[in-house]
Amino acid sequence: MTDVQHMKWWGWGVEGVGFHWEDKPGFAPFVDYAVGLDLRTAPVISKPDFDKLSVADSLASSAFVASLASIVGEAYVSTDKMERVVHTYGKSIRDLIRVRANLIERAPDVVVYPADEDETQRIVDAAVAADVVIIPFGGGSNIASSLEPRADETRVVLSLDMGRMRKLLSIDDESGLAVIQAGALGPDLEEQLNGKGWTLGHFPDSFTHSSLGGWIATRSSGMQSDKYGDIADIVRGLHVVRPGGILVIRPIPSSSTGPSVREMIVGSEGRLGIITEATVQVHRQPAKRDVYAYFFPNWEAGTAAMQEIAESDATPSITRVSDARETGFSLATSKESHGLSKFLAGTVLPFLMRRKGWNLDDICLSFIGYEGGEAHAKLQKKLVERILKKHGGMGVGSGPGVLYDQKKFDTPYLRDFLLDRGAAGDVSESAMPWSKVNQLHDAVRVAADKAFDEIGIKGWIMSHVSHSYHSGACLYFTFSFVFGDDPIGEYNVVKSAIQQAFIDNGGSLSHHHGVGLEHAPWLEQDISPEGVAVMRGLFASADPGENFNPRKIVADVKEPAKAR
Ligand SMILES: Cc1cc2nc3c(=O)[nH]c(=O)nc-3n(C[C@H](O)[C@H](O)[C@H](O)COP(=O)(O)OP(=O)(O)OC[C@H]3O[C@@H](n4cnc5c(N)ncnc54)[C@H](O)[C@@H]3O)c2cc1C
Repeated sequence: MTDVQHMKWWGWGVEGVGFHWEDKPGFAPFVDYAVGLDLRTAPVISKPDFDKLSVADSLASSAFVASLASIVGEAYVSTDKMERVVHTYGKSIRDLIRVRANLIERAPDVVVYPADEDETQRIVDAAVAADVVIIPFGGGSNIASSLEPRADETRVVLSLDMGRMRKLLSIDDESGLAVIQAGALGPDLEEQLNGKGWTLGHFPDSFTHSSLGGWIATRSSGMQSDKYGDIADIVRGLHVVRPGGILVIRPIPSSSTGPSVREMIVGSEGRLGIITEATVQVHRQPAKRDVYAYFFPNWEAGTAAMQEIAESDATPSITRVSDARETGFSLATSKESHGLSKFLAGTVLPFLMRRKGWNLDDICLSFIGYEGGEAHAKLQKKLVERILKKHGGMGVGSGPGVLYDQKKFDTPYLRDFLLDRGAAGDVSESAMPWSKVNQLHDAVRVAADKAFDEIGIKGWIMSHVSHSYHSGACLYFTFSFVFGDDPIGEYNVVKSAIQQAFIDNGGSLSHHHGVGLEHAPWLEQDISPEGVAVMRGLFASADPGENFNPRKIVADVKEPAKAR
């Protein structure tokens, strides 16, 4: 046994933590209204039984396992069933449905935990020499089917778990650059940086269970990206173990050497080698960090405000605005005596809003973060609030923002709660120019509703602007429905409709969840057939034996764009 912690095999996070609705009086009525699920009477599906999972025998020969053990030591190689199951899937709804339903088509045959870059190199060389498939594993949190071995893989599949490589190796204080091992999970990495007064500033919702290497390999984005950048901006240097040697990208702030190999590695989902360490830009921990809540009279006012902020001199750390439906959800998930519920409980706010002519069904909740030195944070707030006022924004203080900030890493547990009651709750996101934001928002709602009708279910979709840029934004959609007889088939109909609406309305196939197998059917529409041809050429030349996580990103077979 290693000391590497994994998430539970059947769901998000760790055992013993979960979502609770009993202390949120608005939640059950909301779920009933949104998807027709009565939480008070819905049967709760019992926890799946691991012993009943059927997993085919490992194809790894004892000689190959022994050769790995000679590199890392016996304790760090495993063909154990639990290890193989934990390393099979990520944490998408599709993954969770399959693993709970005993649908494991192809598990990795062997899991190995290198201690350092040298061991990683020796593993890669041994695996490629034996024509073994290598799938790097970070936290296992991806939701794009980026980890699963292909179902028809006849070669041995090795899951290379980076979990022992989680150290902060060095900091160049003068340049604000830190060298960190790729297996470090969010908390590992922030704790070590904070100990020296620094922060990376990368906080995806999956922060607690995702790794630096995984963030880089999927082009991740954190909720404070407006200030700190996406991971593609944060990572400057890289070490990537490839057959026979290490690809080194030095941490240069900018360069005219193109095409950029650094950019090729960022988002490569394990197809170009194993990222063992990264040099990332880090920031001094901010003296002040506040998240304030505001309401807008409607969605258009909210998005116009976000756009004007992005184009202004203001640099807040978070700019987020929910549509009216998501605002309803946020109000419903707040506790009786806290934050937003005070609003529901009849403070003077609804009265004020009505007096302004607002329709309370249209109001949109926004969170804006201000971060940095005291004076900087104060100035940002002043600059931003001037813009918010122009668009009718009404401040409700930092109380709800504090709660949002504290609870953000618990939200993912809601998906398991819904699955336990036979319902899906999943997400999909896209980036688009500002000129398309409202159009895409409305078109995705129409497309999802049509898909719900097609499969004859009552579904729900809601959205927020999650990340802003000078020229556009990311819209993050959450959808939910109660399963009928064919959960995966129903999910595919809804997910495909949403993905196609992204592309048809000027959006990207994803903004920060990567491509994997899940989004590969839309790649050609996203980057053009010529773009895909260039990518195919890259993978074919860099990995002629198809040993590195084959078939991810670029689909093998040309088929109409729809989820599998
Ligand atoms: C509830 C939930 C919330 C989420 N929120 C966010 C969010 O806010 N922002 C966001 O960006 N994402 C989010 N995600 C998605 C996910 O957390 C990201 O895709 C994350 O970057 C994956 O990191 P990981 O370490 O878990 O990678 P894994 O899932 O282990 O692997 C992902 C891919 O990267 C490859 N890989 C992993 N490590 C390496 C390495 N060292 N070298 C080469 N390739 C490697 C794998 O082979 C695989 O192809 C969320 C997911 C869930 C389930």
